[in-house]
Amino acid sequence: KLKSFEGGRISKKYPDVKFQNYRTKKRILITGGAGFVGSHLVDKLMLMGHEVTVVDNFFTGRKENVEHWFGHPNFEIIHQDIVTPLFVEVDEIYHLASPASPPHYMFNPVKTIKTNTIGTINMLGLAKRVGAKILFASTSEVYGDPEVHPQSETYWGHVNPIGPRACYDEAKRVGETLCYAYARHEKLNVRVARIFNTYGPRMHMNDGRVVSNFIIQALRNETITVYGLGNQTRSFQYVSDLVDGLMALMNSNYTLPVNLGNPLEHTILEFATIIKSLVGGEHAMKLTKAVEDDPQRRKPDIKRAKKYLDWEPKVSLNEGLKKTIEYFTIEVKRSDGHKVT
Ligand code: NAD
Ligand code: UDP
Ligand code: UDP
Repeated sequence: KLKSFEGGRISKKYPDVKFQNYRTKKRILITGGAGFVGSHLVDKLMLMGHEVTVVDNFFTGRKENVEHWFGHPNFEIIHQDIVTPLFVEVDEIYHLASPASPPHYMFNPVKTIKTNTIGTINMLGLAKRVGAKILFASTSEVYGDPEVHPQSETYWGHVNPIGPRACYDEAKRVGETLCYAYARHEKLNVRVARIFNTYGPRMHMNDGRVVSNFIIQALRNETITVYGLGNQTRSFQYVSDLVDGLMALMNSNYTLPVNLGNPLEHTILEFATIIKSLVGGEHAMKLTKAVEDDPQRRKPDIKRAKKYLDWEPKVSLNEGLKKTIEYFTIEVKRSDGHKVT
């Protein structure tokens, strides 16, 4: 029976999937699973042999990110907005649905708020009904423009509640509040990941984030646009490290928020120089107008993740950027109308 299942129904076009028996196989819902981070998580959980359901409204996600699983018996995709209630039966929920890059989340601020508040209530309500564990993808933006450096989970943050970034920052803060309200009141089993800047293949080409912008500009021989003086800092983690961290958090017994990020901090100017040298060629760099409420420093304190999840990032910036540049080289060719095999 097993043999015919493994060799018969699953066609050779799919990557090899581990076999899970009925005791170990989990039914996992990933909201925002067609997006950048979500699709990498889909891959990892599918390869482990779990049943994965993606729910996505394709605002910033793409079917292409998960199309290699279409037709696989363990995989399902639902085209739906999480602001409307969703009824499925699952054991775990990775709740990632939300635009993540500033231009995307500012595109329709009210929608961003609804997704992270009403959408999160729906996913918590779902988790409550079916008794599922739920992990909420929060963000380092809950710390705002931080006065404490590096940022540890005990810092309450410094967010401008009426600024252009507030629709995202405050909605994620309410998202966290909702998780702990359900945990206290409904005994829900919650996990909260505060994710710091993440990059890698499948980032949206036009998402306006610094990594995609700089790489694409360098590949196209365009001027690299540094906002402000470029002395603001960020710390970038590669997507596979984040996926490992999210899974470690889900599988741990730790219920308070946990920072997931790479503590290696660079100024944006340093970062532009690193990308220029990795892509090669001569690129001009231009300092443009600073963006409003841009956090000036950001670096995660990851002691909690190390202690409770035994997790720390493994992929170096050079290694991660090389893979990302490889990905964008093909994407840029495609979008410029070249045939890529
Ligand atoms: P992404 O934009 O690539 O993915 C988000 C996905 O959610 C997309 O597929 C999008 O279509 C979907 N989505 C958005 N609104 C939805 C809605 N109302 N209903 C259903 N689906 C919806 O972004 P990402 O970088 O993969 O981010 C994933 C999560 O991680 C987000 O919650 C984000 O806030 C968080 N996060 C990401 C970063 C980062 O650097 N990438 C940093 C901090 C936090
Ligand atoms: N909900 C959902 N799927 C479910 C269960 C609930 O989308 O399987 C939604 C439900 O529509 C409600 C929200 O989650 O709007 C919160 O549910 P909860 O049970 O906490 O609240 P109530 O329904 O009592 O308002
Ligand atoms: N940034 C930049 N040029 C760009 C895009 C971004 O200088 O083309 C800067 C931006 O002002 C911020 C940092 O890079 O200081 C990171 O921006 P991103 O939008 O990637 O993420 P976030 O601000 O959410 O951390």
